[in-house]
Parts: sequence; structure tokens; C-alpha cells
Amino acid sequence: MRDPRYDILFEPIRLGPVTSKNRFYQVPHCSGMGWKRPETLAAMRGMKAEGGWGVVCTEYCSIHPTSDDGAYPYARLWDGADVRAHALMADAVHEHGSLAGVELWIGGSFTANLDTRVPSWGVISRPPTFAGLTHPVQSRRIDKDDIKTIRQWHKDAAERAIEAGFDIVYVYATHGYLLSEFLDRHMNDRTDEYGGMIEDRVRIVRELIEDTGNAVKGKAAVACRFSVSLDDPETYEAFGELADLPDVWDLTVDDYSVEMGASRFVKEGALESPVAKAKALTSKPVVAVGRFTTPDTMARMIRSGVQDMIDAARPSIADPFLPKKIEEGRPEDIRECIGCNICYAHNSLGVPIRCTQNPTMGEEFRHGWHPEDVPAVIATPTELALIVGSGPAGLEAARALGARGMQVMIAEASRDLGGRVTRESRLPGLSEWARVRDWRLGQIDKLATVEPYPESDMSAQDCLDIDPTHILVATGSRWTVDGLGRNRVTPFTRGADAQVISVDDVIDGLHPEAGHVTIFDDDHYYMGSVVALELARRGLSVTLVTTAGRPFAWGAYTEETHANAIALREASVSVVTNRLLEHVASSSARFSCMIAGEDLTIDCDAVVPLTRREPQDALYHDLAALVAKGRGTAPGLARVGDCDAPGTIAAAVYSGYRTAIELGGEAGGSLRERAVERQEAAERGRSRG
Ligand code: SF4
Repeated sequence: MRDPRYDILFEPIRLGPVTSKNRFYQVPHCSGMGWKRPETLAAMRGMKAEGGWGVVCTEYCSIHPTSDDGAYPYARLWDGADVRAHALMADAVHEHGSLAGVELWIGGSFTANLDTRVPSWGVISRPPTFAGLTHPVQSRRIDKDDIKTIRQWHKDAAERAIEAGFDIVYVYATHGYLLSEFLDRHMNDRTDEYGGMIEDRVRIVRELIEDTGNAVKGKAAVACRFSVSLDDPETYEAFGELADLPDVWDLTVDDYSVEMGASRFVKEGALESPVAKAKALTSKPVVAVGRFTTPDTMARMIRSGVQDMIDAARPSIADPFLPKKIEEGRPEDIRECIGCNICYAHNSLGVPIRCTQNPTMGEEFRHGWHPEDVPAVIATPTELALIVGSGPAGLEAARALGARGMQVMIAEASRDLGGRVTRESRLPGLSEWARVRDWRLGQIDKLATVEPYPESDMSAQDCLDIDPTHILVATGSRWTVDGLGRNRVTPFTRGADAQVISVDDVIDGLHPEAGHVTIFDDDHYYMGSVVALELARRGLSVTLVTTAGRPFAWGAYTEETHANAIALREASVSVVTNRLLEHVASSSARFSCMIAGEDLTIDCDAVVPLTRREPQDALYHDLAALVAKGRGTAPGLARVGDCDAPGTIAAAVYSGYRTAIELGGEAGGSLRERAVERQEAAERGRSRG
């Protein structure tokens, strides 16, 4: 039963001509699916509607081929084929009584249009501005006739949005795209009525809001996505000029590393102050994100009038059923987002999003996976799975197998469950990593079928003596100290008395008593920087040397490089880029240059190499050997997670879930049936068009 404190989250709200059944609003967020994978997109968005989100929006949606984000699978509404593709999503959302929204998008100078091969249209002519794009092309500077043309394209797209069945149609005026260029006093150098004073720079946004209202003819709400900034009072002036025009405001801030901030740097509800300030200027409903995962915070935001609806991207990815769980009085079942930004990273890599907490995300169509529904096993109740290792892969496999009805034992060598997430969550900024463990332990606690056994170091014979039907080896991986990795195929050399410390030893508390430590990072993910910050916290002098051009280079995908660089600077960590470790001596380390420079020698007392991990799979091989000798049977013997192939925590959770779902068959073949049903529905949608 629902806690009455959260009733406010379930009050309907009018958004212009339409009404949302509750206050849960899935903001437009990129998916890596877009126009390339409409069935995958429809199944994913439909799952959110099934999970109770009152509004479910699709991602940024191009109005015309002059807005083309190339490798990033954006949505588009260029013609009738796109209308039919979007109708799949709108239908999937409507099926559960939710509203479907679409964010019409004009790329401006932000895009390189690599696919459509026509110039992008910008306020000035300049190269693409997205950090990852350094293509040698420039946008075309638009004139007043072009503005008329853009308005017509936007109107046409809004009409197509209605045809596709959308209930909310956006004017997208932030995130650096064309309308942001108009609003930016530094970039907008126009001398006509679209430049100069703020009331003129907002003119095109005003016109598009009015045009969109005329196009949708009262069949849909007009939303506007807009940024304000505590540092820039003019953004509130601009907002004030438009305050009562759209039916709903989707507000954010003008710093994407805050809006999309990783949990290392940005916590829940970080936009509260600027959103509250803007909300005071309008009579229209305001929705805003804040990586909200706790119902108390959500209810407080609505009750205190900061915003009218809870906007969410990542929390809806981590748990598509978040609203239902609050409604059904079981908020402890919410899979809380950990703020790792693995989801966003994979859109930037041009593939469907995935999620560390929710292994079914992006697999709703392809595999028919459902975040809350696992098929019962075709097994007798006496069938037993032994899982050795309780890291993210082991815990997820145990949870999913237990939910499927199999008896499960989890044997963990140490006293603490959770494996790498328990250990890593003690490092600076990574406390939310522990949610991966805590949610799974909470679910396992509710299952009579699963029993954890900490402090149980198992040999192969121990495992076989239990006589399980299946054995999953989830014993993780360990960081190596040889230097082999992305850029070294031979180990670095080392002199007598060279002190080389493994990352795992640092995580477990080992470090030189005093002095200077050099970290050699050929991994390029978060660990190099986090270990540097940890050693600095322990009072050591630290130099972080990387083979990449910047520390935590992969952070470009998770939106962390900037905040990470600031954290390193504030901790007085010295950074050296484009260097490869060659030799460690007793009091120094020598590096070659990755480009064409001279060798560099750094005086230091110890080196921590971060280059690769070795799967801890000895138990698996021992078991396989014993089974081959006829000393036991284990038909389900498998390696999962890092023990199989070291990777992200998301990959380990996915491995555990997938192994659990594929083990022991599916009673009734329900997953396959669901996938086939979705395929047939998609085909019906296509033929209808
Ligand atoms: Fe949250 Fe990470 Fe999942 Fe994204 S991938 S929704 S940041 S837990």
C-alpha cells in the first residue's frame, strides 16, 4: 500500500490540452536507438510506460536533414516513414495510459551532418562544437529567409508528430543547438530583429512556440526545454520573456556536466536552486531533472513548489518501474541509479544504451527481457546452482536464478559480499557504487531460494562435494603489475629494489609510508584518477602518467573529464600525458613519449601500474579438469563477469543476468514468445503505414 506521504506524486496534472496521470515525467533522453532501431526504441519506451511513468518522451528528433548527428542515433521526423516508426513508440506508450512526447530538434552548428552531407545551418559559420567532433567542416550562416524556412520545417515536423500520435511536442532551446546559438549574446552577432537585446534574441524561440501551438491545433501540449544559470542573470531575463508561452517548461541548467553529472561529482537534486528561481517567474507547469531516486526528495520537490513533475532520464533507465514501486508501497525495491553514466556513454558510442543497475535496458525488444519479470526455470525444485563469488556478476546471477525459482547457494571467500563494488565503493566519490550490491542483497533477502555463505573459500573438490546441478564461477579479476595492456605487448623492465604496487593492494589499503608515488594509467577509465585521489588523500605526493592525451580519457563518454581534471588539480596530483612506462628503478621511473619526444624520468618511491586485469579463473579450470576426469558432474559449469572477461560493472551485471536467464531453460518459452510478439506488433505497425 502506498505511503500517504507520496500521494502528491500521483496527483494528475494538466499540461495544456492533455493530462498526465501522475507526476513522473521521463524527459527526452538519448537512447542509441533513434531512427536506426525503432522497434528497440518502442519496446524500451513502452516498458517505462508499463512501469508507471505518466509521460514518456523520445530523444532529440531532427526536423530536417540539415540536423544530422551522424554516428549518434538520434530520432527524426522527416517524412511518412519516420511517422510510422514513431507511431510504434507512441502506441507502446499509450497502451499503458501514458502520454508520449517528442523533442523536435534543430542541430545548428553543433552537427557535422556526416550522414546527410548537407551543411548544417548556424547563426554564424563555424566548425561543429561538440567536444568529440573535430571535423574540418563549418556550418552555413543563416539569413532571414532561412529563418522562415526553419520555421516551416519545424511546423511540418510538429504536424507529423501529431500524425505519429504524440501528445507533447517540444521546442528545444538549449544544449548548444541552434536556438542556444540565438540566445547566446557572445555568439549571436545578428544586427536584425533576431540579434542584439535579449527580447530580440528570444524572438525565434517565441515564434517556434507559437508556430508549434498552431501546428498541433490543441491536440498536444507544447513544451519548451530551456536552460537557466545561477551565474548568468540574463538567462532568467530570457526565461521571463517567454514565461507563460508554452504549456509546460522542461528546465535545466547551462552546464551539461552538472545536468548529466556523474555521482562522483554531482548528487541528487543538484538543480533545485536555479529551477526554483525560474519557477517563480512562470504560471506554467515546470518539470526538471535531478537524478531523483528517493521518493522523499521527489515529494519534497513537488510539495515545496520547486517543480510540478519529477523529470528523470537515468533513474527511469535504472528502474523503469520506479513509479509503480512507489505506488505499490515498496520503494525499497527501486533499483537506484548509481550515476556512472554508462548509459550515456553508449549512446555516444552509437549503440543502444545499457545500464549498470538494469541489465534488461536496451534488450526489451531483441531478447524480450523485462526488468521485473523473469521466466520460471524448467527445473525440479531440487535443482541447485552453486555460485562462487559475490561480486556484481555473482549477485545478479543469484538474484535472477533465485527469482526464477532455482535453489541457489552463493559462496564468498571473504567476509564481505559484493566483490569489486564493495571494495571500489570505499574509494573517493564512488560510494554510490555500493547500490549495485545493496539492491541485489535486498532482493535476495526476500527470496527463500537463495542463501549466501560468506567466508567460504571453495576448492574445486569442495564445489563438487556439494553436488550442485550448475556451478557458476564468478571469482572476478585482479589488476596485474607487468605493464602489458593497451599500449605494451611486453612487460616494462624493473631494477633491483623497484617498488611496484598493484591497484588491488592500493584499494585494500597498502601504500608506501611516505614519499612520491607514480601511477601509470594505460586503462583510461576512472580507476587511474580515483586511485590517484585516494593516494593523495592518504597524504602521498602523486603523479598520474597516462598514455592518453588527458587523464580519464574515456570520461569524455561519461561527461567526467572536466570535473575529474579539477578534482586532480585540487588534490595536487601532477598529470603527465602521452607517456608509456618503460622502466622502474628503485627511486625513479622512465617513460617514453607516445608521440615523438624525449624520454622522461620521474623521481618516485613506487609505481602503481594500471594496464589490465587478469581473470581469476583457476577454480573454473580446476573444476573443468575434475569433471573431465569423471570426478563429478556440473552440466551448467560456466564463468561469469570479470572472471570470464574483465570489463565494466555493467558488463559484469549483464553477464550474470544473461547466464541466469539462459540457464535451465524457460518455462513456456516466455521470453522468446515476448520477443516474437514484439516483432509481430512492429510488423503490423509497418504494414499499417
Ligand atoms: Fe544510472 Fe549508471 Fe544506469 Fe546510467 S548506467 S542509469 S548512470 S546506473
